[in-house]
Amino acid sequence: MNSPLTVNGREYAWPRQPLVAVCIDGSQPEYIEEAIAGGHMPFTQKMLESGTDLRGQSVVPSFTNPNNLSIATGVPPKVHGISGNFFLDPESGQEVMMNDPKFLRTGTLFQSFHEAGAKIAIVTAKDKLRRLLGHGLDYTSGRAICFSSEKANETTLAENGIENAHGMVAKPIPSVYSAELSEFIFDAGVKLMRSFRPDLMYLSTTDYIQHKHAPGTPIANQFYAMMDHYWEEFHAQGAALALTADHGMNAKFNQAGEPDVLYLQSLLDEWLGAKQARVILPITDPYVVHHGALGSFATVYLVDSTKAHELAVRLTEVEGVEASYTNMEGCVAFDLPNDRLGDLIVVSTTNKVLGTTPERHDLSQLKEPLRSHGGVCDRQVPLVFSQQVEATGVLLHNYDLFDLALNHAS
Ligand SMILES: [Zn+2]
Repeated sequence: MNSPLTVNGREYAWPRQPLVAVCIDGSQPEYIEEAIAGGHMPFTQKMLESGTDLRGQSVVPSFTNPNNLSIATGVPPKVHGISGNFFLDPESGQEVMMNDPKFLRTGTLFQSFHEAGAKIAIVTAKDKLRRLLGHGLDYTSGRAICFSSEKANETTLAENGIENAHGMVAKPIPSVYSAELSEFIFDAGVKLMRSFRPDLMYLSTTDYIQHKHAPGTPIANQFYAMMDHYWEEFHAQGAALALTADHGMNAKFNQAGEPDVLYLQSLLDEWLGAKQARVILPITDPYVVHHGALGSFATVYLVDSTKAHELAVRLTEVEGVEASYTNMEGCVAFDLPNDRLGDLIVVSTTNKVLGTTPERHDLSQLKEPLRSHGGVCDRQVPLVFSQQVEATGVLLHNYDLFDLALNHAS
């Protein structure tokens, strides 16, 4: 038995059996609850008789990258540095994607366990997360595999620890806008559990379905039934399961079915004059079909940052704003890195989203009424385990997933 490891100030016991941790992207707790109630997840229902069904919070901004990295490091963005999918790089003044490992300020659990001799397998839906999650793994060791289903046909031993990962899944490479992109992950995961038998496996899906379909609706239920089937296979292979989400998901449209948007850049231009404020939406990514870059979190850079406090107070009065903070207040409230957020931090109410200006959002690709995330209102996540797990505190986060599964399961 290997001795416990300390990763980013937290101690973790060595896995006693292979552990499969799943981050179900955008899995508002009601998705699993409704699917179980409708009889669509027979394995999970049975698993919970002897397992554990908890709820926790994601980090805010409740977006994909900050939360996947929080789960993978066991600490909030203040420590690991990934504060959005997207941010304003103070060094270059450019708005850039936060996909590059150079933005990571700590190592991951995967890296530490790998260095201590563990076998690690990571499969993501989109390639944007793969490099961050797989950072620090030595692919020449024969003990690390990390790839995305999006690019499973491009994997190499040197970059991913596996030659042509696509070869083991008898399915075509799915579209990035599909449920199949997530199914591919589980199919590959089940095969890797058999052939590679990792000590730790991390699977991270895409929220394409959750952006379009509410909990309990037929297509959402079908998606959860698909996952239930694969989870049963992992269980049959003797693996423990630990499930959470990177964030929840809520309806963000008005009675007419249109996205209910507060255009923050337009509002601040009206208040302050042009070019005095720059609104950054850290949800922004190339996958606009999901959400049109509309979410419930924004940060604002001001030319005159001495106005921050006054503006934060004034914004609180605006309909649709749930809370607004100065950089200092917001970073304390949400455990965020000060240097990667603007002078103001704004979160919207549950069914509202924050935009920049109307002409900067292409909503033509949104086929269904908008469902999105990003705010405090979207931070409810499941923490579900195949084993009996003793909850460690009053307030749990998704980044307690490995602590709970490795240290508190019996
Ligand atoms: Zn996500």
